[in-house]
Amino acid sequence: MADPSKLERRGLLYVLSSPSGAGKSTIARMLLGSDSEIAMSVSATTRPIREGEEDGVDYHFVDNAEFDRLVAQDAFLEWAHVFDHRYGTLRSEIEKSLAGGRDVLLDIDWQGTQQLKQVDPDIVRVFVLPPSLRELRRRLEHRGTDSEEVVARRMERAAAEISHWAEYDYVLINDDAEICAAKAGAILDAERLKRERRTGLVDFVRTLTG
Ligand code: 5GP
Repeated sequence: MADPSKLERRGLLYVLSSPSGAGKSTIARMLLGSDSEIAMSVSATTRPIREGEEDGVDYHFVDNAEFDRLVAQDAFLEWAHVFDHRYGTLRSEIEKSLAGGRDVLLDIDWQGTQQLKQVDPDIVRVFVLPPSLRELRRRLEHRGTDSEEVVARRMERAAAEISHWAEYDYVLINDDAEICAAKAGAILDAERLKRERRTGLVDFVRTLTG
């Protein structure tokens, strides 16, 4: 008999958004490290690669011409301008994970989330808020990967991004990355248990009722 804990279910798209510096990447890393059934969607971007980043792991780093080509080929599920660059979710990334029976984690902004919701209403949207604006600035400065000017602009953008918090299903306040990641994991577990995603339940219940 089928293992009841491994009943077939529909894979889900789990979106994490936040203003840059709210700790979303750390939470995503922790979630991926503790759960083998979810895979990251690696976006394509025209932004220059930062020190410590790896092409194909953090992003698929492409130039403007390549991004244009991908748009023309309808390769993106969504894409948007964020800061001075373009970022997009590749259909191939999502399809690869779902076909392999894994859920997909997307680190995208509010514009991408709105577009994705149009394409697939069944997405799970989680917004991560920083505990304060002061802490947000401290984290952006501490990261040391961006110039002062970029940090200042990201701070300006933070308020605009935060204004979209109410478009999300869940809101986490990140004053402790580990606790926040555990909560993000609890959301994932609960969403996986939703009846409508568990396509294997019908057959399983039949074995109980005869
Ligand atoms: P960063 O340059 O710091 O890696 O990312 C800047 C912002 O772009 C983040 O808020 C991130 O969520 C967003 N982003 C990354 N990939 C995508 C994507 O594929 N689509 C959209 N819409 N936003 C993205």
